[in-house]
Formats: sequence, structure tokens, C-alpha cells
Amino acid sequence: MKMLINGNLIDKEDKIAVINPFNNQTVDEVPVGDAKDARAAIDAANKAKKSLNEMSSRKLSRILNDIHQDLKEKHQEISELITLETGKPIRESKVEMDRSLQTLIMAAEESKRIHGETVPLDAAIAGRSAFGFTIKIPLGVVAAITPFNYPVNLAIHKLAPALAAKNTVVFKPSSKAPLAALKMAQIMDRHLPDGVVNAITGSGSVLGDEIVTNARVNKISFTGSVPTGLSIAKKAGMKKLTLELGGNDPLVVMDDANLEAAVMGAVGGSYLNAGQVCIAVKRIIVHEKVADQFIDDLVFRSKKLKIGDPMDPETEMGPLIDEDAAIHVEKVVNTAIDNDAQLLCGGKRKGAFFDATVLDHVQKDMELIQKETFGPISPVIRVKNLDEAIEVANSTPYGLQAGVFTSSIENAKKAVREIEAGSVLINKQSTFRTDNMPFGGFKMSGMGKEGVKYAVEDMTRSKMVVIG
Ligand code: NAD
Repeated sequence: MKMLINGNLIDKEDKIAVINPFNNQTVDEVPVGDAKDARAAIDAANKAKKSLNEMSSRKLSRILNDIHQDLKEKHQEISELITLETGKPIRESKVEMDRSLQTLIMAAEESKRIHGETVPLDAAIAGRSAFGFTIKIPLGVVAAITPFNYPVNLAIHKLAPALAAKNTVVFKPSSKAPLAALKMAQIMDRHLPDGVVNAITGSGSVLGDEIVTNARVNKISFTGSVPTGLSIAKKAGMKKLTLELGGNDPLVVMDDANLEAAVMGAVGGSYLNAGQVCIAVKRIIVHEKVADQFIDDLVFRSKKLKIGDPMDPETEMGPLIDEDAAIHVEKVVNTAIDNDAQLLCGGKRKGAFFDATVLDHVQKDMELIQKETFGPISPVIRVKNLDEAIEVANSTPYGLQAGVFTSSIENAKKAVREIEAGSVLINKQSTFRTDNMPFGGFKMSGMGKEGVKYAVEDMTRSKMVVIG
């Protein structure tokens, strides 16, 4: 597949192979773009600003609806591409496409609701005879940089709000999974003036540095790991930033919880996309009174998970993104076992596959708990009460989402008050997300919010108008 700059498909001699982690076959190749290509994309996006600024919201909304329709017709094809390049089970890729379509519709609706506010200038002595109001204007060029794990949905979460707010876009997908996202960008481009959507591929640091430091980029919307997010923040200068970074989300299970629901939450949350989800359940904090029963059921259900060919509609868990990722997970799990965590099931790696793994008696200072482990692991920490559960939940540098299972409203209220996370979900696990809720982490998990309405808000700026 090729890059997209100013409406043209651009190829390069140097290529990056995109590998299917299930069978190690090359799915396709993408060009290795360089800083010059990034500048060409930024140039194109700058020139295209006028075409979008002059477009009515009504027309823009209709175009976003047309893109939705076009993508809907490619639902199967793009879902398969996601599965081929990431190893994600096809049933999950289809859900990713469903969500992407929904996000687009929400953005199409939101594009007609962007407005400022009136300001009662006569509240101040100097403003007695003046009228005042704000208008919302686009930022200009928005750079969208995305990770591998939800290649289409995470891109749409940036591109659709950016377009809805009449910004042009320079998009850089992950080199590990760029294909479905490039396809999506090409579809968008068919409906929009040249240069409104540009997509470039290549080294994250080479393209990233040009995008992040280029003065003609007005905003960077980044989703990815904490180290990359931090390096962007250091270089970005005065650019507006949204950083959606790593998570290490806890699932707290109290002694009064509906245990069956909590186990289902743990299984759904730990193994979705083989645990490669920012909001996956990465730590399970269980009240000691119910821990044995909870863990028995968790192990039973973890063993039953159907692991295999991600293209098989019955498959519930596929491989990780590549073998290196699985080797890393294996290392972290083995270190925990060496430090007296008890392996109850899983723990085995085969190529890029890693089994659904339950570990008991995990300690809160282990690497498995303190750092984000992007794999299908359920590490259980036993606690004596809610205070201790909250202390463990807050003990890492992350704070994206947190799930708490309890039937007590007092426990729920305390957890909502005291857990440091962008969302606290009562009787739902952290993987719960709808695209109209404000989404974004506390602490090292990021800054700014996504969720269509909030992302659109962040893709505009206010201009004050005074009529004297
Ligand atoms: P990553 O940080 O390695 O890469 C993300 C993107 O940044 C890629 O496109 C990469 O090429 C690019 N990049 C690399 N170096 C760069 C640089 N110096 N400047 C600019 N861009 C650069 O992340 P990943 O491994 O692809 O994704 C996994 C991570 O993403 C996990 O930490 C996960 O929790 C996080 N994530 C967060 C959210 C969220 O909404 N908070 C959602 C999904 C994933």
C-alpha cells in the first residue's frame, strides 16, 4: 500500500513489510517515508485548509456521512485487513469496524453543533455599550499519530473530530499495522478536497520528529505508549497536545460483589485483543474473603478460551502483535513466578502466541504490576479491605480507567472519590467505553480527552468578537 500526500499515492524504494503474526507471512508492504515526505504532507495540509474553511458545516456533515457509507461497504474487507496485520480475532476486528462507523456518525452530527457563546460585556464598566460573543474556529493542521492495537478505531477517533471541526490532517499510523488505516485514509480522501487528509508511513522517530517540531502543525493528537508520549511532549513546544497513553487498569472485586459478573469482567477485560488494550484489565485486586472462589472460576474460564487462527470466527484470542511482544510478556511473567507469584494456568508461549494466564499471590511492587504488561495476563493481588484495594489501585504511575465490583453504594462512592483514574466504573470492567463519553487518563496515562464531542472541542479554538 502507498502513502497519501495531497491526493496522490506516493511510493518509495525502501519498504517496511507488514507481517501477519499468526503465520509470519507478509501481508503487504508500505513505503519508508522520510522527513521530506512529512514536510510535503504538512505543506499539502496547510494549502488545503482554505478549501475546508470555506465549506459549510452542512456539506461537511454530509461528506462525513458519505465516508461512513463508503466505509460501511468495506466493513468486511477492512476487518479482514485488521486481523491479517494485527492477529486480532476477526470477531473483534468487526466490532472495531462497527465502533469506527459509529464514531464517524457521531462526528458527522457533532460537526453541525460547533458554536461559541455570548459574553455579557456589560457586566464590566468598560463593556456597557458593547456586544460580545465567541466563535469557534479550526486549529489548522492536526497531526494524528496512532498505535497498532486498534489501527482503525483509534485513527477515526482523531481524524473524524479533526475533520468535523474543519481541520486538515497529517496522519501517521503504526508501522506494525498501517494497512487498514491507510485504506481508511484513502476512502476519506475520495470524498474530500486534495490535501485535507494525508497519510505517511515510516520510522516513528523520523516522521514523528518532523511532525512534532514543524511550526506549521497546530496540534498533535497522539495515542501510544508513555515513553513516546513523553518524548513528544518534550519536543512539541507551544503546540496543542492530546496524549492518550498507556494504562494499567485495576479491577477491584469486593467481598459483596456479584462474583459471576466480576469473573466475566475479568475474563473479558484481561484477554480482549490478547490483553493489548490500553484499558485492558491489567491488575485484579480481590478481597481475601472471596478470592479462592473468584480465582477458581477465573482459572476455569481462562482455560476454556478458544485460542487459534484469528480468521476463524470462533477464535476468541489470537497471537500478540509479534514474537518480541510475546517474549517480553513471558519474561515479565517468569520474573513474577521467580518472586513467588503462583502460576495457576497458562504461562506458555509459542511464537507470538501467549496463553491466557492467571497468577495468584502477586505483590504490588512487581514489574508485572508497576508497569503496563500488554498481554493476556490476570495477576491477582489479595487484599483485606477497600482501603487496601484503593491503595493498591493507586500504587502505579498510571490512571486511565478502573472497574470496581461491589453491591454496596458506600463502597462505590468511596471508590469513585478515591481512585485516581480518568473513569471509575462500578460493576463494569475497565474495557467499557462508549464513544460519546469523555475518555482520557490521569497521571502518566495522558492529558486531554477524546470521545467525539470532547475531541471536537479540543480541535477548535475560541476567537472573541466585540462589537462596540
Ligand atoms: P508506541 O508508542 O510504540 O507507538 C505509537 C505511535 O507512535 C506509532 O505510530 C509509532 O510509530 C509512533 N512513534 C514512535 N516513536 C515516535 C516519536 N519519537 N515521535 C512521534 N511518534 C513516534 O505504542 P504502541 O506500542 O504502538 O501501542 C501500545 C501503547 O499504546 C500502549 O502503551 C497502550 O496502552 C497505548 N494505547 C493507549 C490508548 C489510549 O487511548 N490511552 C489506546 C491504545 C493504545
